[in-house]
Parts: sequence; C-alpha cells; structure tokens
Amino acid sequence: MAHQLSKSTFIRGEQCQKSLYLNKKRPFLRDKISAEQLAKFRRGTDVGILAQSLFPGGVDCRPKSPSQYAAKVIETAQQMADQKVNCIYEAVFQFDDVLIILDILERTGHQWNAYEVKSSKKISETYLQDAALQYHVIRGSGVDLAAFNLIYINENYEMETETVMQQLFLIKDVTAEVKARENSITAAIALSKATLTLENSPEVPIGEQCHHPYPCDFLGHCWKSVPPNSLLYLDTLESALRFSLYREGKTRIEQLPEDHLKNIDQKIQYESFKKNEVNFDKAALHTLSHIPKAAQQGSFLKVLYSQPAVPFMTGMRPYDHIPLAVSILKGNTSTEYLIAQTADGMEFFLQTLDTLNEEHIIFAEDKADVAHCVRVANRISAKAGHKTIHDSLDQLVGLREFLSDISLYLPFTADRFGIEELQKHFSATTFNLKKEVYLVKDLLEETDEVKISKQLEGVGTYVKALQQIVAGFRKLLEA
Ligand code: SF4
Repeated sequence: MAHQLSKSTFIRGEQCQKSLYLNKKRPFLRDKISAEQLAKFRRGTDVGILAQSLFPGGVDCRPKSPSQYAAKVIETAQQMADQKVNCIYEAVFQFDDVLIILDILERTGHQWNAYEVKSSKKISETYLQDAALQYHVIRGSGVDLAAFNLIYINENYEMETETVMQQLFLIKDVTAEVKARENSITAAIALSKATLTLENSPEVPIGEQCHHPYPCDFLGHCWKSVPPNSLLYLDTLESALRFSLYREGKTRIEQLPEDHLKNIDQKIQYESFKKNEVNFDKAALHTLSHIPKAAQQGSFLKVLYSQPAVPFMTGMRPYDHIPLAVSILKGNTSTEYLIAQTADGMEFFLQTLDTLNEEHIIFAEDKADVAHCVRVANRISAKAGHKTIHDSLDQLVGLREFLSDISLYLPFTADRFGIEELQKHFSATTFNLKKEVYLVKDLLEETDEVKISKQLEGVGTYVKALQQIVAGFRKLLEA
C-alpha cells in the first residue's frame, strides 16, 4: 500500500501541520525553491554517497523513482535475508504508513546497525527526530536493530596527503535518544496522518514556526496579507513578542507600543520603518567617520568563495572558505581573477591581496569572510611550502561590519546588509547581481573560457555595486 508520510514530510509536519497539508494537497502554492536550498540539498546527497566508503561492498537498493518504492521495500527484505549480504545502501522500509530510505544498514551478527549520514558539523534536534522516525519504522518492519547511528562531519579534521574518510566522518550512537522518543513519534505520526485526511487545511496562524528550524516554503502564501511595514519584520524585537502583538491585531508599525523598544538598535529600526527611510546611529558614526571619507581613495574588493564539505587540498578542513574568484576595483576599472583550487592557486590569491597593501583603504562586502579566506589560503599555502601573507588585514573595511557598527537599518527588510537591498537604497544604478551560489556553481563546473569570463564579469558586478553603495552612503551623510 502506498505510504502517507516520508522522512521529509514527517519533519515538515513537525514544523507545521499546515505546511504538511499544503505540501500534499496544494503543492502549487509552494514558493519556488531557492538556490541556497538547492545547493544544500546537493551537498547532502554527495556526502551521503561518500560515507558509503566507510562500509565497502554494500548492495545498493536506491529507488530510481517513486514508482519503485514498493518494489525496493521487497528488495531490501530479500537482500537482508541473503546471508552473503552484509551491508545495504539506501535500504527502504515501510511501516505505519511511513516510508523511509536509510543511508546505510550493516549486518552485525544476527542483528543490524543503522547509519544515517548528515552533511553537517553538528547533530541537531531535527536530526535526532529524523533518526527516531527511522528507528520506529525499521523496528516496526520487524528488523532486529542493535543500534541507530548518525554519521556527520568532523569539523576538526585537516587533510594531509589524502582525504581519510575514517577521520573526516564522526559516528555517534543515538540509540538511547531515539528510543526515548518512541511514544512521541507514534503520536506525531498519528497526528500527521489525521491532518492529511482533512478536507481543508488546518487553521495554523503564522508564527515562529514559519522560520524554524527551516524557512517554510509556503511563506508567500501564508504571509501574503502581512503588510510590508508590519512590525513582524522588526527583527530587533524578540520574535515571540512580535507574534503575540500580531495575534492581538497589531500589524502595522504605528501600532507598536513604544515602551517595547528597549535598546538603541530597536529604536533605530523602529524609526526606519516608521519614516520609511534609512536610519543609523549618528553618534556611533562619529567615531568611524574616516571610513566614508576615505571611500573616494579606496579600492573595492570582492572574494567569491566556496565551502566544500570534503577537503581536497593538504591543510584544508571541512567547510573552509576556499577563494574561487577575486574582483578588485580601482577608480573605474575592475580586474577579475580566477583562483585555481590548488595550493598554487591559494598562493596566487594571497599575492593578489598583497598588491592591495599600498592602498589607503580597501572596502569589501564582509571582512570576516575575506579574513577566513586568507587564513585558509595561508594554511594551505604554508603546507605546500609556498608564501603566506600577514593576515591582520588592517586596511580592510567590511561594509557589513561598518554598517553594523553604526546600527544601520533599512526600512521593511530583514536583509539589511544584503548587497541587493543596499543598492536599492544607496545607489541610483540597479545592478544585475547574479546570485553568489550560482556564480560559485558555474565557476566550479564550467570549462569553457568564454563562459568562465562571463561568470567573472558577474563577480565584477559586485565590486561596482559595492562602490556605488559606499558613494551613496557618503551622499547621505553630506545631505
Ligand atoms: S508559512 Fe508558517 S503557517 Fe504557513 S505553512 Fe509555513 S510554517 Fe505553517
């Protein structure tokens, strides 16, 4: 019989029963999947396959399409009955109308060990709940499960001459945790199954669950009646307070009782929303006033980087910031560089930044990100016996850090340091900024030189936008 729930729909229901219902019954109301989510999804898939090498020689039961689910449940059982099979990848089970696909199932004597792979450096509450669901379904299918384990990324791993999977991955036995959740899982499955039988979607008011643990993909549908100047977007205010005011019918910013504003950031953001204009702490700017003044003489820097889960260079750690492309704007001319994903490339990146040392001030979007790239490039370069540079980056000003220091807020947006939002407010020019996640993907995958230089132009657009934003900010100060 066809299943009603899967791992992902169960977790969706844990976040919000309305989301579960809409996903099944009104999928056309779903927001378009974001590039970031797509990239994360791909990352998870790759790491899952890599972790299989910890258990070599397994039989693959992965369904190629949903139409194969039922057949793969039978095939998994057949493989388990075969004493010659000691390990199964993507084992499929169904129980209690829930279908799950387990990453790795390993025979241990007369019992089995289950392993679920996560591409994360930490074990979250959602992962434990996901593991508890799988434990329930596998045990319910009649499997004598000795242990349930989560495999995740060891953030302290540093690659030497090659990637050692046994060191890259950590394995945690979570059997006790998932057993303790057995009753609540049974109840949660019953609740979700009942929701799916409803005629209409359950009445669930918007709330903190809309963004936690994941941004819901029905935000566009459920939040469409929230006015743009709603106090719900006033993110300096505690979210529980915002939603309780919202439920009282206080939707517009003018309806916010001012005695709720306790600190300078809340007051500045409130004024920004109320007057529909950029607002910041003028007193804090006084101590940093040399920065906007220096904007005319400075250079502008963009470092595009990737964060691979799996290290591939000596000295590299999981999720290190690996520089991929650099754009430098001096005056009206920008120059773009593609950074090879090798120790030589890291040295070239460092030397490129070193040429900027003479500059009075260098503006980057985010100083912390550039600093991370420099630290990583220095580490990899040093391991290869190449040159390193000083990583103090004294002359580097991060736009985000600067705007945060002066408590700058834009009206009606939570993404106050996003380049796209900032350019709307500070620049007369609208730049066609290609999403970074796409630039990274295309630069990593592209081999055609013409197409690569097109992507590099896209990186160059960021420095031009940055220059315009800083110039726009100076004009605001002079007004
Ligand atoms: S947007 Fe919020 S209320 Fe609507 S389905 Fe998603 S989590 Fe539920």
